[in-house]
Amino acid sequence: MKNILVLSMALLSFLVKAQVKHFDFDSILCVLDGKVIKNSDVIRDSLDHIVSIKSVKIEDIQSLRILKGKAATDKYGDAGKNGVMEVVLKKNTPVDNDHKRDAIDPKSTQVWELTPNVISAGKNPAEPPSDAIVLFDGKNLLEWASESREEAKWQVKNDAVTVVAGTGAIKTKRTFGDVQLHIEWRTPAEVKGDGQNRGNSGVFFQEKYELQVLDSYENVTYSNGQAGAIYKQHIPLVNVSRKPGEWQTYDVVFTAPRFSQTNGRIIEPAYMTVFQNGVLIHNHVALTGPTENQGLPVYAPHEKGSIMLQDHGAPVSYRNIWIREL
Ligand code: MG
Repeated sequence: MKNILVLSMALLSFLVKAQVKHFDFDSILCVLDGKVIKNSDVIRDSLDHIVSIKSVKIEDIQSLRILKGKAATDKYGDAGKNGVMEVVLKKNTPVDNDHKRDAIDPKSTQVWELTPNVISAGKNPAEPPSDAIVLFDGKNLLEWASESREEAKWQVKNDAVTVVAGTGAIKTKRTFGDVQLHIEWRTPAEVKGDGQNRGNSGVFFQEKYELQVLDSYENVTYSNGQAGAIYKQHIPLVNVSRKPGEWQTYDVVFTAPRFSQTNGRIIEPAYMTVFQNGVLIHNHVALTGPTENQGLPVYAPHEKGSIMLQDHGAPVSYRNIWIREL
């Protein structure tokens, strides 16, 4: 920015001398060392912090000349109708990218001072790595509460927790922002109902953004409401659902939305990347707001929130739930 200002000021002084009253920096034709370029053209690599004609350092300029009117169009034709800025660089100012790159010590772009934390991975991708928070390991619901923040009423049995219809959703006592979540789920082996009434549940991020859980094995429903859908916002890339009664996995990267501290407006939407049974079904998709059953989504500012599992009346089971804060 400083360089841009410097060049703009230099240009301004030339313009004053040339008595040009109206000038549009972006529309003027720029000629660097006799070569016509556009303002956006890269003329040197970013390592040298010169990425456009606007970024040329003033000390590198040998001469700068402004042509206008007939003088400009005579020399450059119609391209010069808005004026021409001819810049000649000093001889020791190379603009050859390859030449510049060859002169750079590779060590100057190596990073040694910052190192990632060392953690240990699970024996397989389903096992929690050492920095994960285990939300459910098959034993109890100590990490969970009911919607009204009382004891979670779902049934824990055989290393799984199963929806008890009518007891409501359960949600984590902890709240989260950006996370990586692993969760395993199973719709009932005994098929009952169809469409949205077959094995419906859901994994909610921050209690607002639902990744649909449904028996979508040979079960037709609206596509943006099937298993793997980010409910009514994003259809999964493929239907990789296993048969009812078989365990399935979701591995999710959730990026929480960002809101303005001053006016609460949305700055960055929420994003999700989702793998179902190891297969990518959402690639960093942006959410347009909380996942609503009725009407269109509208963002409203909020803080961190719980992971919430939906009671939609079907005895859907979950197991092996762990999360990493990002
Ligand atoms: Mg649901």
